[in-house]
Amino acid sequence: MQDKCTGTLYIVATPIGNLQDMTPRAVEVLKTVDRIAAEDTRHSAPLLKHFSIVKPSISMHEFNERERLSIILDYLYEGESVALVSDAGTPLISDPGYHLVREARSRGIKVVPLPGPCAAIAALSVAGLPTDKFSFEGFLPAKPESRRNRLALLLHESRTMIFYEAPHRLLPVLKAMAEVFGGERRAVTARELTKIHESVLAETLAKLVAHFETHENELRGEFVIVLQGADESQSETREVIPENVLDILLEELPLKQAVALASKITGERKNVLYEMALAKKGG
Ligand code: SAM
Repeated sequence: MQDKCTGTLYIVATPIGNLQDMTPRAVEVLKTVDRIAAEDTRHSAPLLKHFSIVKPSISMHEFNERERLSIILDYLYEGESVALVSDAGTPLISDPGYHLVREARSRGIKVVPLPGPCAAIAALSVAGLPTDKFSFEGFLPAKPESRRNRLALLLHESRTMIFYEAPHRLLPVLKAMAEVFGGERRAVTARELTKIHESVLAETLAKLVAHFETHENELRGEFVIVLQGADESQSETREVIPENVLDILLEELPLKQAVALASKITGERKNVLYEMALAKKGG
């Protein structure tokens, strides 16, 4: 139940590159709230100026979210309404805001969503991959070893997977995906969505790697990768999977760690994998 005296927290989606994607309701709410909490107030300034929105603003980014949280909750307790915006798209989706929303909710403060652009959903909507079930994976770890381990954990994932990626890591990530999932697995790169240089490529991982190796000038801008899920019927019958997983992990990790992780991923018993790993190392 909402405390009658508290204000409302609005979670407001903003464009991911095209100002025309700003919804009229987002403009209206941003014009009527008492205060705007922005991931980066300087970044949001041109957007607010474009729509003639003049409001006191406070920054709330990943490094000061917890500290700013109590200040924003105080405003809400004083009856002020606050709108949260991120640099682009929907707040909380690989952006700050989770702690604020959780705390606001647990204190009975009303939290209202203003839906709008989100790069993940925009990419999924044009990928041509199954959309009945999907999994949002956000950003992969930057370190090659951790990235590979994370991908290995997704080996059996049968849902379509969505990743955000920085342009300078796109090619290494596609290569790692091809190694882990096989070059024939299909994927889609959605670049600069809603912007002038928007381009969407739907291909096998091997062909995407070959494309970007020869078109380095396209490794610029913002990217979403949408990855086809594992073929459920195949993964159920492929008995060699624990060994495949172990092979991949042994390339990157010490034996004990590779065995423990392979056991977690595949459900195979540790001692079986341990024997397998010893045989491989010995061989
Ligand atoms: N909250 C945002 C959303 O709703 O999509 C995402 C913020 S996250 C910090 C930024 C990442 O989203 C970028 O690195 C890129 O992977 C993806 N992204 C954002 N805008 C994009 C666009 N116009 N085209 C493709 N990807 C985009």
